[in-house]
Amino acid sequence: RGLVPVSTRWGLVLGVSVVCGAAVVVVGLLDGAAAVPFGSVLSGLTALAGGATVLVRERQTRREPFRSLIGAAAVLWGLGQVIAGVQIPAGASYPTTGDLVSTLAGPVAIAGLGLSLRRIAEPQAALRFTCEGLVAGGLGAALLWRAAFAGVVDTGTGPGVLSVAILLVETAVVAVLSVAALREDDPGMVTVAVGVSLFIAAAVFTQYVALSPSGGWSWEARALTCLAWPLVCAGLLRMGGARSPQDEGYALERRRTLLFAGVVALLLVALLWSVVIDPTVDGVTLVLVGTSLVAAVVRDVVVALQSGALLDRVRSMAYVDVLTGLSNRRALVAELTSRDDASESWVLTLDLDNFKNVNGQLGHSCGDQLLAQMARQLEEVCREDQRVFRLGGDEFAVLATGDRPTVEHLAERLVLAVRVAALAVPGVGRVALGASVGIAPMMQGGATLSVLAESAVALRAAKEQGRNSWVVYADQVAADSERRRLVEARLRVAVQNRQVTLHAQPVVRLDTGTVSGVEMLARWTDPELGPVTPAEFIDVAEASSLIVALGEQLLELAISTAVQHRFHERDLACAVNVSPVQLRVPGFADDLLDRVQQHGLPASRLILEVTEQIFVSATDPAGAELQRLAAGGVVVAVDDFGAGSAALGYLRRMPGRILKLDRSLVATMLSDRRSAAIVSSMAQLGAAMGLDVVAEGIEDEATAAACRAVGIPYGQGWLYARDVPLDDLEDLVADLGACPLTVDTSTVVGSLASDAT
Ligand code: C2E
Ligand code: CA
Ligand code: CA
Repeated sequence: RGLVPVSTRWGLVLGVSVVCGAAVVVVGLLDGAAAVPFGSVLSGLTALAGGATVLVRERQTRREPFRSLIGAAAVLWGLGQVIAGVQIPAGASYPTTGDLVSTLAGPVAIAGLGLSLRRIAEPQAALRFTCEGLVAGGLGAALLWRAAFAGVVDTGTGPGVLSVAILLVETAVVAVLSVAALREDDPGMVTVAVGVSLFIAAAVFTQYVALSPSGGWSWEARALTCLAWPLVCAGLLRMGGARSPQDEGYALERRRTLLFAGVVALLLVALLWSVVIDPTVDGVTLVLVGTSLVAAVVRDVVVALQSGALLDRVRSMAYVDVLTGLSNRRALVAELTSRDDASESWVLTLDLDNFKNVNGQLGHSCGDQLLAQMARQLEEVCREDQRVFRLGGDEFAVLATGDRPTVEHLAERLVLAVRVAALAVPGVGRVALGASVGIAPMMQGGATLSVLAESAVALRAAKEQGRNSWVVYADQVAADSERRRLVEARLRVAVQNRQVTLHAQPVVRLDTGTVSGVEMLARWTDPELGPVTPAEFIDVAEASSLIVALGEQLLELAISTAVQHRFHERDLACAVNVSPVQLRVPGFADDLLDRVQQHGLPASRLILEVTEQIFVSATDPAGAELQRLAAGGVVVAVDDFGAGSAALGYLRRMPGRILKLDRSLVATMLSDRRSAAIVSSMAQLGAAMGLDVVAEGIEDEATAAACRAVGIPYGQGWLYARDVPLDDLEDLVADLGACPLTVDTSTVVGSLASDAT
């Protein structure tokens, strides 16, 4: 930074130059001959001062070389004029040494202006400005020629031709610069353009006076140049930095094009008018107008190329996924529909397991980063004839050719690549991610797009198999998918007609065998399909959101049953399975608490069984609903505990009070030492955390004994009772020793109820 701020400095430069210009005018009016050398010296000094200021500032900031070039041109020109101003009174004739030095400034300045164009535009656009400058410049020069110069210049001579060429160059420079100034929308650039225009006007006028029969020098031109260079330098000092292409608004482009068209139209009208007045059209006019025409044609070609390139870019953007740079779903569809030869072609659809948790736990920007990384890894796995697409979200696709083993091998490697990529996100550490892949072959002559749907069906089958697996679409998959569709359709009807009902299975105290509560299990027998297992229809219901309506019906039924059988008075708890999908419905907790209250069931009699997957993501809204429910007194149980792969950290913050050990562990604890070890340590863990532990799926006395031996207080299973229809509930409960009249505070529900408050 210099001592004087830029704004002050360019104001100073301008002020001084206006005073100098005025001084030249005053002297000129008094004595024209004396004003010429006086004006030369003064305009030279102002150019020197301005140029030097620019040069110094550029040395300090080292911004862009074009400023230094134009500054140097100002210094050169000023130097020449000062010399000329000294030489003229001494009797030197045109051109003096000073004039020659000043002339050197021309190419330097033009080089600088050329560079300044480059900074605001890519080469194609710069060529376009230049052409536009030549169009307007050619017409302007022709007009000037016809109006003034044709009478005084002899085009038969070398100097005559030179003078025409100079005229064209000068008007073109003005025009190009004006176009650039308009384009850049920067007051600094506009100031430069005005300064250069003033200078060129003065130069043209000087030339005109020198060529005219009376000859000599004009002091008026010198008064003008006192202003010109300082304006140029002031503009340079004021100019902002180069613009980035994103800043170019379409509004600016439109304004510029309109102005350009307007100026050209005006010039054309003036030129036509001049032909009307004087119909003789000489060679120079033709050459100048011709130059303008050629430039117009070139400009048109450039514009066509530019808009063509733009169109291509826009078009290709529609087929590219911005985040990963991969081709998108639209590109895949286009590719599939354009394929004539479908032989040996396959579509692999890949979906990330668990990605929603990543997004929820680590944030979306990390998720995005992971997806981009994933895209690279997938591409690396693929050969040249295997193209990767991003279908959206965490879904990718690969279009591959080859025989079935090749494609299966590819699927294998894709799954592996996802696991590797998941581990390689900087700053995140270990992210456990997997992928499922669905594969479908393209059928010769078959509908091209059905392959997408088929690979999606195969993908769903792969997801059902568990993580990191792939499935090839085949008849079996097709049949499964057909069955799902059927089950969904029938279930919709069943939910409407309230045909899904509940069975109850008791939960008992393992030491006494007395009942402490019942678990309500959904049962459905469809008139067409026959009995459908809850495993099947609950899954379909969750995938289609039918679970929300169904779950509400079952909760209502369970609660009213509990009230009807006076669970409260008998210290029995009623356990209901709820799906995460239900829990994510906003307001679920409040609705349920209302419902419990309306029925007059104490909230502590109700147990909600949820699987641990809900607790894995801290941001899952289901977690918040459960917290509300727990705060309202409802008891939460972690169902199928030990069966999933969730890390145990969630146990610290979850609102559950019961752990239900999964049947797969309990049933194998006698035959498998590891199962036994897991069950016993889970029992200890539960006890240490103050949670009630329930062993699920006890089928024989030996298992019950083993559970008692490791200190598990509660159990459930066929040993005690199978699930029964609600009509038989009373008999069942009575058989298992729950008394309808006395209150047994030693039961599990008693402890749960007191804990819950
Ligand atoms: P779950 O919550 O683990 O339910 C326990 C399952 O174990 C029940 O199967 C039950 O009949 C069975 N079971 C109980 N004791 C024994 C035993 O000693 N041996 C064996 N082998 N099995 C035993 P079910 O009724 O087929 O239910 C399967 C799953 O469907 C349930 O697993 C639960 O996740 C889901 N489900 C059932 N009803 C509902 C419901 O109303 N809503 C929701 N969201 N899910 C439900
Ligand atoms: Ca359950
Ligand atoms: Ca269970």
